[in-house]
Amino acid sequence: MKYYSTNQQAPTADLHKAVVKGLAEDRGLYMPEKIKKLPKTFFDTIETKTFQEIAYTVADAFFGEDVDAASLKQIVYDTLSFDCPVVQVKGNIYTLELFHGPTLAFKDVGARFMARLLQYFIRKETEVGSQEKGEVNVLVATSGDTGSAVANGFLGVEGIHVYVLYPKGKVSPIQECQFTTLGKNITAIEVDGVFDDCQALVKNAFMDAELNQHMKLTSANSINVARFLPQAFYYFNAYARMKEQGKADNLVMCVPSGNFGNICAALFGHEMGLPVKRFIAANNANDIFFKYLQTGKYEPKASKQTLANAMDVGDPSNFARIYDLYGKSHERITALISGATYNDDQIRETMRQCYQETGYILDPHGACGYQALAEGLAADETGVFCETAHPAKFKEKVDEIVGIDVAIPDRLAAFMKGTKQSVPMTKDFADFKKYLLTQ
Ligand SMILES: *Cc1c(COP(=O)(O)O)cnc(C)c1O
Repeated sequence: MKYYSTNQQAPTADLHKAVVKGLAEDRGLYMPEKIKKLPKTFFDTIETKTFQEIAYTVADAFFGEDVDAASLKQIVYDTLSFDCPVVQVKGNIYTLELFHGPTLAFKDVGARFMARLLQYFIRKETEVGSQEKGEVNVLVATSGDTGSAVANGFLGVEGIHVYVLYPKGKVSPIQECQFTTLGKNITAIEVDGVFDDCQALVKNAFMDAELNQHMKLTSANSINVARFLPQAFYYFNAYARMKEQGKADNLVMCVPSGNFGNICAALFGHEMGLPVKRFIAANNANDIFFKYLQTGKYEPKASKQTLANAMDVGDPSNFARIYDLYGKSHERITALISGATYNDDQIRETMRQCYQETGYILDPHGACGYQALAEGLAADETGVFCETAHPAKFKEKVDEIVGIDVAIPDRLAAFMKGTKQSVPMTKDFADFKKYLLTQ
């Protein structure tokens, strides 16, 4: 499969290049040149298949031309070492729980898949006797959630070393322990600055010729095709599990969105034939996409800080993919996708109400998805919203808002018991470069 850039100014790339580079030379996002439709027979019997079987069929459509069948199957099965179940919350509202992975958020799926795919390509390079030093170094800047998913996704994966850069004192203790206690091939770097400083260090490193001579660098950014496409797996599985219960007609998928990678994967699924009637992009107060749907104008803004902080994005990168997917047509986009936007007061109210009414504990991100369905679902529709993170990841907030004591799952508690280790760093690129040159 060839991947083209949404900016149309860069040469096409094969999968290997698209995964290693992440972003095209013209700063555009890679898109597969074709999206294969899955046959009707697949959907006719989908409810008889397991999550892993379904995911492999979807993975084969995207990656089957570039990765041999046995390896791809292994990558998919290793990635999905946990379930993504669909659970009824009330009436015709269901939740797709995406928090059963190692770091309790949906980003685990993409990060685990990308780590294994990258390892596959590194092994192939070694086999053909490349002169280059085998080890690949992944640099990732994080404000919290991405760092933990990427670090855990790559943990113990041979041939890859991960450097997680995070702003000192600006990441919650629960988030911090998920990437500073791992050891092995994961190094946490505590930058004396803010998130933007971390991102600037990473960007400078990619552009520094001397550093790139010294070591192979790559990013594990969420715009990477190997991170966003595998997210389609769980939408197909959600459809199958709803069909099993006879609830798959007039299905509405609702996705709490920030950078729009997650909903973009769902839309790719729809292009492959996934029978979903319509989609809702649920936003917090960062309403750039919501405004686009209303006005046809895409006007990025500085991001606003909210309770659902993983969705605090003022210029969602994957908008470019959605725009491209529908031929830049506002009409086609609005025919399939609607929007919703909630401020922090509304998120709090939703979390309280949902708990009182149903006993289900929402996290602030999932709350946007739930509320959009509660307000926007027709009587003959069934809605599924993504619970993108476990409420215990935002324990202080959830406890205070809902008035409960959220239980911390064992796998999260285990991180919190570990010993924190990180490398202190200034925000000066010269210091970061000097450090990497000695690695
Ligand atoms: C990353 C994240 C989101 C936003 O997902 P996008 O793919 O960026 O739209 C929503 N909720 C949680 C908990 C996240 O970590």
